[in-house]
Amino acid sequence: MEARSLDVTARTGLVAVLGHPVTHSLSPRMHNAAFRAHNIDMVYLAFDVYPDRLRQAVEGLRAFGMRGANVTLPHKEEVVPLLDVVDPRAARLGAVNTIVNDQGSLVGYNTDVAGFLAALRTIRAEGARDLRCLVVGAGGAARAVVAALSEDRAAEILIHNRTQERSVSLRESARLWGESRCEVVAAADLRAVARGADLVVNATSVGLPPSVKESAVPVDILDSHHLVMDVVYSPHSTTLVATAAARGAIALDGREMLVMQAADSYRLWTGLEPPVEAMRESLDRHER
Ligand code: NAP
Repeated sequence: MEARSLDVTARTGLVAVLGHPVTHSLSPRMHNAAFRAHNIDMVYLAFDVYPDRLRQAVEGLRAFGMRGANVTLPHKEEVVPLLDVVDPRAARLGAVNTIVNDQGSLVGYNTDVAGFLAALRTIRAEGARDLRCLVVGAGGAARAVVAALSEDRAAEILIHNRTQERSVSLRESARLWGESRCEVVAAADLRAVARGADLVVNATSVGLPPSVKESAVPVDILDSHHLVMDVVYSPHSTTLVATAAARGAIALDGREMLVMQAADSYRLWTGLEPPVEAMRESLDRHER
């Protein structure tokens, strides 16, 4: 399909990401590429919304007749009570990353869970079923990862976080979400648990600047039996993904999750099957 150039008129529809800060977001690239690939008369912008302006920004979606929005840090949890309807998955998680404006009614979804599950299926067709999984991190991304693993019936979900109270709190949530056995891993046990895990996920921000050379997951115990996923996406492989691959593990960085969560949002706004190749290519162009 030939992509048309951007031609904004008085009829052009609007979608945006609400975040703070937001200038690093890759979502405008992916969604504008997708709208153009499908010849849809919409544009996607990034709005830097200060926390004390979130309510007004959400009201603005309705006032401007926008089709919807993505929501990113630090607003994913605070936005929940501002919506008219929240779908069950997002409600369970207590976090929304996608809003659909359904004729004035604002409906919240969480596509990070679906994005993670779709990415996982590219390296294991059965997903997390019956796997022993280690998740490092206990922030927003880790919550989505743990919810996904629980939905996918992982055998065990083992959580380690720098700040232990947050991993305890995530474990308590996970025990309500599903049947998987769920435990907190202390720093002293991290290496041994990582060694014995089938799937190891970095869900911290370690790997992004300024910690590009670091890994929150011990890398020297990884081997060819491990599946390794990093939620961090950067144009160059993270230390975790590069080392895991060099040691024979199957390793995937956060790019596929990023594309797949965007694809799911696109599906919700347009009702169309997303042009994922155009979305991936928009990231490639960004990296060149
Ligand atoms: P968040 O809620 O702020 O949580 C950050 C997490 O990283 C916490 O667990 C934090 O531990 C940990 N952390 C930060 N610095 C650390 C360090 N130096 N050592 C050890 N742990 C450290 O952020 P988030 O929303 O979860 O985002 C985390 C990452 O996921 C970001 O890089 C984000 O871009 C990425 N992400 C990717 C996707 C995707 O689609 N690929 C989707 C969502 C998020 P403490 O609790 O101890 O502070």
